[in-house]
Amino acid sequence: MPSEAATIPRRMWAGAFASRHLAPQSASLPMPLPLSLPLPLALALVLGLWAGSACGEPASLQSDGFGDGAGADGHDATIDPDAGDGVDSGDTPSTVEVRDLGTFSTGQDGKSGKIEFDLPAGVTALTLTLQGPADVELQIAGLERSSAVALVPPAWIGVSADPGVCLGPCANRILAQPERAAFLFPNTPLVALEPGLQRLRLFAFRREGGEVTPVVAKVAVRLHLVFGPLRESNALPINLIYTGAHGLTKDSAAADADFQKALAEAQVRLQVAGITLEPVRHFEVAGKLGFILKREGSDGDLAALFRAGEGLPPGVNVFFVDSIYAASGGGGPPGLDLMLGIAGGIPGEPDAVGTSRAGIAVAAERDDPVRLGRAIAHEIGHYLGLFHTTEAPDADGDAIADPLPDTPAPAGDNLMHWSVGAQSTSLSHEQAQVLRRSPMLRQRKRP
Ligand SMILES: [Zn+2]
Repeated sequence: MPSEAATIPRRMWAGAFASRHLAPQSASLPMPLPLSLPLPLALALVLGLWAGSACGEPASLQSDGFGDGAGADGHDATIDPDAGDGVDSGDTPSTVEVRDLGTFSTGQDGKSGKIEFDLPAGVTALTLTLQGPADVELQIAGLERSSAVALVPPAWIGVSADPGVCLGPCANRILAQPERAAFLFPNTPLVALEPGLQRLRLFAFRREGGEVTPVVAKVAVRLHLVFGPLRESNALPINLIYTGAHGLTKDSAAADADFQKALAEAQVRLQVAGITLEPVRHFEVAGKLGFILKREGSDGDLAALFRAGEGLPPGVNVFFVDSIYAASGGGGPPGLDLMLGIAGGIPGEPDAVGTSRAGIAVAAERDDPVRLGRAIAHEIGHYLGLFHTTEAPDADGDAIADPLPDTPAPAGDNLMHWSVGAQSTSLSHEQAQVLRRSPMLRQRKRP
């Protein structure tokens, strides 16, 4: 695992934040990995390619009983965000419709045939989810309307250095993920959904070391369609899941002033985008799940952690863990640096729980509650579809920037900057719009 953090102590990591604790004394550590990676590869890596193995005790899940119960299961159903006994907030309600397109096979070149579907009029946002075999990376090879308006240019993989992420050719960024990958359209004002017949092609591959190998795979395709204007005020259901790490349990969390301060900080940051965390449900999991030594692989620690959320009501699963190690795979010792958090996808699979990528993990240390709160908000931002405003610069000082026009890349005051500090508080209008396109949001109910 290329570890730029090994060379720059106290560095915050893309895809998450590195802890300021246990920063390595880089001069005394071996540097087995290149400082400068191809940027797309670096991005894909830090955002979560999992490999390696870990054993863990089966986790058992304990609901707290004071959640409000499960909602729609999100599968093959139309979700009515207004369902419930509350009164809506007065915005024009939008609705979410889920469609399964079926299962499609990729060929020897890793690509599927043309998959056609109709995008109805009135769709504001589209989240496309792919589900395939364990450890097979799933990507979109092309997505275009019949009149050749491309959301994903059909030839991009042929001209890209890495099929894991489409940056330059794709105004609408897309990032491959193993086993389950989700893609939000649009995530930039530079592209627009146009109703009508869409042509989709998939790409499946494995990555071993630096090698990309196309694979034959069966891939299920699901759409989440958001209809209607984006709401200014939204609710996001979240499940807070305690692993016992840092002494946190349901009871201790409720009584822990620093933890509550962190939750309040996360809420304040997301409120900038009109998102209220509600309902907030609390759960505990048993088992040795709090140490994320290996983030990669369907049999890795992070996958095991996320799977422990099986059976929870739909929402964003937020797992509080002890430590997330930035170094992984490759057989080297872990602990070159720590991360404060990591998200299962950009975006995550809508309303999924219990899959290998369903959720975010955050190190629950509470010596700096404000930073913890921002880590939670930052990872939720990823999970709803936001990329970093800029990735960490490489050795030449070059960095990938989020192409959102109103979002200055170098600004360290943005919540989605790769390195989050005390000043990292803001979200731009366009970032808020990306968040509001998530099908995970609900109509806010008045108390
Ligand atoms: Zn991040």
